[in-house]
Amino acid sequence: MYTRRLFQSSHHQWAWRAAFWKHIWCRPQGAHRRTHSRSSNYRAVIFDMGGVLIPSPGRVATEWEVQNHVPSGTILKALIAGGENGPWMKFMRGAITVEDFLQEFRRLCSEMSKTSVPVDSFFSLLTCEQVAKPFPVMTEAITQIRAKGLQTAVLSNNFYLPNGKSFLPLDRKQFDVVVESCIEGVCKPDPRIYKLCLERLGVQPSESIFLDDLTPNLKAAASLGIHILKVNDPETAVKELETLLGFALRIVVPNTRPVRKTMEIPKDSLEKYLKDMLGSQTTGPLELFQFDHGQSNPTYYIRLANHQLVLRKKPPGKLLPSAHAVEREFRIMKALANAGVPVPKVLDLCEDSSIIGTPFYLMEYCPGLIYKDPSLPGLEPSQRQAIYTAMNSVLCKIHSVDIKAVGLENYGKQGDYISRQVQTWIKQYRASETSTNPAMERLIEWLPLHIPEEQKTTVVHGDFRLDNLIFHPEKTEVLAVLDWELSTLGDPLVDVAFSCLAHYLPSDFPILRGLSDCDLTQLGIPTAEEYFRMYCLHMGLPPIENWNFYMAFSFFRVAAILQGVYKRSLTGQASSATAKQSGKVIEFTSNLAWDFAVKEGFRIFKKMPATKLLKRSYHTWASPQCLLNATGMRSYISFPDTSRANASKGALVISPEGLSQPVREQYCRLKRFMEQHVYPAEWELQRHQASVKRWTPSPLLEDLKEKAKAEGLWNLFLPLEIDPEKKYGAGLTNVEYAHLCELMGMSPYAPEIFNCSAPDTGNMELLVRYGTEEQKARWLMPLLEGKTRSCFAMTEPQVASSDATNIESSIREENGLYVINGHKWWISGLLDPRCQLCVFMGRTDPHAPRHQQQSVLLVPMDSPGIKIVRPLTVYGLEDAPGGHGEVLFDHVRVPKENMVLGPGRGFEIAQGRLGPGRIHHCMRLIGCSERALALMKARSPMQIKVGRKGALAPGLSSRWRSGRQRAPAASTPCLAAIPALPAQTWLNCQVEGFLGVVCTVPVLTVKSRVAFGKPLVEQGTLLADIAQSRVEIEQARLLVLKAAHLMDVAGNKAAALDIAMIKMVAPSMAYRVIDRAIQAFGAAGLSSDYPLAQFSAGARALRFADGPDEVHRAAVAKMELKHCP
Ligand SMILES: Cc1cc2nc3c(=O)[nH]c(=O)nc-3n(C[C@H](O)[C@H](O)[C@H](O)COP(=O)(O)OP(=O)(O)OC[C@H]3O[C@@H](n4cnc5c(N)ncnc54)[C@H](O)[C@@H]3O)c2cc1C
Repeated sequence: MYTRRLFQSSHHQWAWRAAFWKHIWCRPQGAHRRTHSRSSNYRAVIFDMGGVLIPSPGRVATEWEVQNHVPSGTILKALIAGGENGPWMKFMRGAITVEDFLQEFRRLCSEMSKTSVPVDSFFSLLTCEQVAKPFPVMTEAITQIRAKGLQTAVLSNNFYLPNGKSFLPLDRKQFDVVVESCIEGVCKPDPRIYKLCLERLGVQPSESIFLDDLTPNLKAAASLGIHILKVNDPETAVKELETLLGFALRIVVPNTRPVRKTMEIPKDSLEKYLKDMLGSQTTGPLELFQFDHGQSNPTYYIRLANHQLVLRKKPPGKLLPSAHAVEREFRIMKALANAGVPVPKVLDLCEDSSIIGTPFYLMEYCPGLIYKDPSLPGLEPSQRQAIYTAMNSVLCKIHSVDIKAVGLENYGKQGDYISRQVQTWIKQYRASETSTNPAMERLIEWLPLHIPEEQKTTVVHGDFRLDNLIFHPEKTEVLAVLDWELSTLGDPLVDVAFSCLAHYLPSDFPILRGLSDCDLTQLGIPTAEEYFRMYCLHMGLPPIENWNFYMAFSFFRVAAILQGVYKRSLTGQASSATAKQSGKVIEFTSNLAWDFAVKEGFRIFKKMPATKLLKRSYHTWASPQCLLNATGMRSYISFPDTSRANASKGALVISPEGLSQPVREQYCRLKRFMEQHVYPAEWELQRHQASVKRWTPSPLLEDLKEKAKAEGLWNLFLPLEIDPEKKYGAGLTNVEYAHLCELMGMSPYAPEIFNCSAPDTGNMELLVRYGTEEQKARWLMPLLEGKTRSCFAMTEPQVASSDATNIESSIREENGLYVINGHKWWISGLLDPRCQLCVFMGRTDPHAPRHQQQSVLLVPMDSPGIKIVRPLTVYGLEDAPGGHGEVLFDHVRVPKENMVLGPGRGFEIAQGRLGPGRIHHCMRLIGCSERALALMKARSPMQIKVGRKGALAPGLSSRWRSGRQRAPAASTPCLAAIPALPAQTWLNCQVEGFLGVVCTVPVLTVKSRVAFGKPLVEQGTLLADIAQSRVEIEQARLLVLKAAHLMDVAGNKAAALDIAMIKMVAPSMAYRVIDRAIQAFGAAGLSSDYPLAQFSAGARALRFADGPDEVHRAAVAKMELKHCP
């Protein structure tokens, strides 16, 4: 629907198609095409009838007079006699009847000739079928004009017949508009009738051509600004019309036109050259036409005697050295013909520019069919299948050519083809970039990082598509492959992908008719996957796993080409609507490319080996070694005593270095992503949260999500235990994920970027564990894709909700539905516009045993009766756009199939939901504690100089944030403390002042910031705070990892005590560490210049959000006492 609306302007379509192919596409051969494009400024051709489309009354009269012995010229004189008020003109205005006309006309003719004139017989002849027959040359011309998208009209001075109908012996369907004088009551040359015709056509006078045989009529048209063409005989008129319109109107060779003025070549010199080449006996005039396409390398059809040839030459003017290399085309076609690839037979290469002005080559003309529409209308499914199979096998033939044997080993550079191509198209895109296109930006980063490792080198066509093939008119045989301009040596899979572009484009796509809205099975056309498979089968290759990469690259290339075309079209004439539309076409193509990149990212991600547990025993294999690295950061490595390949499976890995290789790689990628994308974005994300738009998702965050997805850094949280086949997530163990989670905890924005944020994680886990297949399809999949968000509604203002059995909201069964009534608050994520699911906890049966009264229902957020009361704040922070909402459920009706597990199972579900979630919270708290400690150590006074460049303190460099220039990783104060950043980044941070000045300021560490005569570091309390914080973080981390390890090897239930302990420990620890950091920062620590205040609020809230500390303490004590003798 969207694409249909997007591309509905046909005018826009042809313009784009023409421009796109001008850039990429040259057409060396003529063949019948099924569609046409317009190529002049005219929009309509208006035809007079008598004398133009059918014989004129004057001509009919001349013959009739001879046969009827009437003095020559009598009729003509009588026709014009009386002018406006003569019988003929009155008859044509419809002012008199046939009988009246004939009577008056008879009298007039007889007076003039002094003899009786049988005008009735003349009238019968004039209007009889045999005489009033359209000229075939005109009929054909009209067909061609309409095929080019121009309108046609007939503007006739005609009359009524005795049967009451108007005289119009034409096929009305051939005309967009018919204007008849007898109906309108106005005759040519009255200007009103021309205006009427133009108005009905909806064109300006200058956009139309008028053909008539009578000078007064033409004069009147010309005075209105209409282009005119006098018709003496139809043949000559059509030739003149061809010149005016710039395309062929008579079928000589399909898709040819008279040679354009600017593209003319010296005929005499060419004729002499051809006669020399073909032999002296070659006689007859040389006929020359130009092919419609092939503007890049102009291409001509030549007929000389019985020879039909195609000439292809470089364009005139100064050219880039490597461009328009017709010599290369000649070379490859010659070589391929010898290798059995169907190509037009090349005859001669002339590099002597003196013959026709530029080098050229000649080949035989190859008549046949070109299928422009990839849906192959009018054919049977079996024929379509055969055509695509033939296309596939001819591509295999090209790719199987032994390049050495045919002498093409130096036809292009060998190896690294894709890298070079990617760089070329990035450069091209950058050179024509007009505004920032997020998908292109992502692709520019993504493509170089995902270049396929294995690349074959073969001949590559470079533009292999169905409409570059000439088929036999009766058989499904490819007679010739055209357009070798982009051919080279390279990775053959690029050709396979390029030939599948149409599969992903809609049928009304402006530059290339697509198939995405067609039912391919019904049509008999192979899908892109089948096409790739067919290729592998023909080539004897294993299935191509990374074909999504090739599709991503192909669409990226198309988007880059379109961007170039667009930039060139911005000459000032393009209307803003056209420009907007063009922008959308590029956006559409680049988004398609990005979709493929995302699919490829997922494929790589899924391919990573499953991290299956080796043993489920409760002990650790790790034998920790403590190695402090050069920067003095935490870096002890646990070398497990089993093989390194399986190091982290079921092991208690206490530092990331001990993780198994694939997980360690993932950890490193995540870390790199945090450094390259997340930290630098924090400043802007924070600004969004403080802006009026804060209740809508930040576009920057959405963009980062897409990037993370394509990196496979997505849904890392789902534990292996509940997703052993890695159907939904990364298949990490709790310990493995804990390390990744710590990294994510370093930025408040990171969890959502990787689709690992609460409450969605808990809800997704709940759906994976307990959801039915239908529930998963409806709710889980969009959540996993990051398209929607969700909330969990348990807490109620009127009861102590730390005890889930207190929950009072009611769920009643009524008429086959569940009806919900209740009041909830502190529901995180509720206010997010993307929130579509509320996982609702309520009471189904107040009389059941205490732990079986509750149930969990999946409630669509758009259900009537959900009334949001207000957003709540945590120390004044709103946590937009998700927020924490208060909400009423007022008779909300939900289908019964939305119940999870069954009535009374709510308590069980709530318990199951919390295990891994608690590890996540705690490890994130450890991440933000690390960052707080790092900030404390790198304590900076942040001497922001707010002023213009030059007003900064000496020694401080400054730069303007301008255009597309990206701030480096440390563009926010918050970043000064990312432990992973290099030393330089630690010591310098860039701060954007409110006048827009970005200045680099030295970060004064606790060593250099002085208070009361001593650096801060020498103040005992600060030292103690740093030491205490380090110890507490380490303690907490070990405990959390132990809990995670226990969950991995012994299950959630066995880990209950440890889970309760970490809940007691981690939030309080984090709160204390963060608080010390705030203290070390002075008042700045409370400001939003640093993440500390936000961290502090978060850690404090977590002492409730997962249940209050006391509840966990009580649980620990209870379990401890259980073991008392
Ligand atoms: C930022 C934030 C986000 C939240 N998000 C959600 C959400 O998405 N969905 C949701 O349903 N809820 C959410 N909550 C609510 C949270 O789960 C509850 O606040 C929590 O369960 C405590 O319930 P309560 O507030 O009703 O406190 P109460 O149960 O009224 O407890 C009040 C106090 O009583 C004491 N107390 C309670 N039990 C014991 C005990 N056994 N022994 C000793 N003392 C005890 C504690 O000091 C406790 O703090 C969120 C809360 C916050 C702050």
